[in-house]
Amino acid sequence: MKILVLNAGSSTQKSCLYEILNALPDTPPKPLWEAKIDWMQDAAMLSVTTQQGTSLEEQILGGERQEGIGRMLATLYQGETQVLSDLQEIDAVGHRIVHGGEKYREAVRVTPEVVEAIASLIPLAPEHNPVNLEGIDAISKVLPDVMQVAVFDTAFHATLPPAAAVYPIPYSFYEQGIRRYGFHGINHQYCRDRVAALQNRLPHRLITCHLGNGASLAAIRDGTCIDTTMGFTPLEGLMMGSRSGSIDPGILIHLLRQGYDVERLNRLLNKESGLKGLSGVGNDLRQINRAIASGSDRAQLALEVYLHSLQRHIGAMLVSLGGLDTLVFTGGVGENSPLVRRSACQALEFLGLQLNEAENEARPIDRDIASAESPVRVFVIRAREDWAIAQECWKINDE
Ligand code: ADP
Repeated sequence: MKILVLNAGSSTQKSCLYEILNALPDTPPKPLWEAKIDWMQDAAMLSVTTQQGTSLEEQILGGERQEGIGRMLATLYQGETQVLSDLQEIDAVGHRIVHGGEKYREAVRVTPEVVEAIASLIPLAPEHNPVNLEGIDAISKVLPDVMQVAVFDTAFHATLPPAAAVYPIPYSFYEQGIRRYGFHGINHQYCRDRVAALQNRLPHRLITCHLGNGASLAAIRDGTCIDTTMGFTPLEGLMMGSRSGSIDPGILIHLLRQGYDVERLNRLLNKESGLKGLSGVGNDLRQINRAIASGSDRAQLALEVYLHSLQRHIGAMLVSLGGLDTLVFTGGVGENSPLVRRSACQALEFLGLQLNEAENEARPIDRDIASAESPVRVFVIRAREDWAIAQECWKINDE
């Protein structure tokens, strides 16, 4: 079965083609073809690589999304990066949909009703749901008869108990849909499954730390998500690359009184805060590390606030679970920063947790990096959202 995955963000469109033969493999496979479009002001950059090692980089003029997706799909069956003789060889297309609201608790086949529901949730995810719908539309035009599957980033958190999901503001807001939804669910769920496969058992009390540009934690008891740090929007919780995470809401009232409008507040909290806002050098931890090495006190402060935010939120998840058996690090920071992992783990030494320092430094992927005696296991899991989406398509096709 050949499965195309579309993962649309506000400024990038990523895509992969997987082939699953008779059964789901035990280890995540490499895609046959991978493509990425970076949308810029008036143009877009397309880059493609195949499993065979051929690659392509080209500029797409005009920058229209539909045209860009069309060009990207053409590289599947044309030119050096060709891996299919015809687009019709594709059996299913999976889409990452950021917001599934309260309704979608698992992946579903795309129907006109599902499209309508995703559209109705645009006010809750204005940067993401519209581009996700564009992807569905583009595929409906070129492959009208192929099964499309919507995989929701919120679905894994649908099991949050009311005490964790409801905000302490008047109840009528909850009735209007203002509640904790949580995000990054596709990867939190993938990490739960991957760590269960690596340990040969589902951990009883698991915390997954998804630390990328955006960052969130999930508290997972016996496989079920019971708490998470992101909320009504992906702004809540941990300090992130350019997002503030949780701050005193009184600060917003103060700034509104000073004349800030909605757009300015939105930009401040989503694009100009976090590591970027504090350090003044950028949102990428590598930039922060370089600035610290050259003596920047602000970069040092940004890192310290980041680590403190991570530790205190892990503390919250730990108490929601009543203890910890397995801790997972994933996402660009979680996979690549021994320092962030060490700092988070040092705060948990009172549980007896001990890292194996050599393993922590050795670029681990899908490996246990705790010392042999540690009662808490610690894993680094490579985020594979695209593969997780492909697996959902395979399962739905099998039903
Ligand atoms: P996204 O959240 O956009 O999917 P990623 O999960 O790929 O992003 O994470 C990107 C972030 O990972 C970068 O902004 C950077 O902070 C961090 N990162 C990536 N590589 C490294 C590295 N080698 N060392 C430290 N941080 C890294």
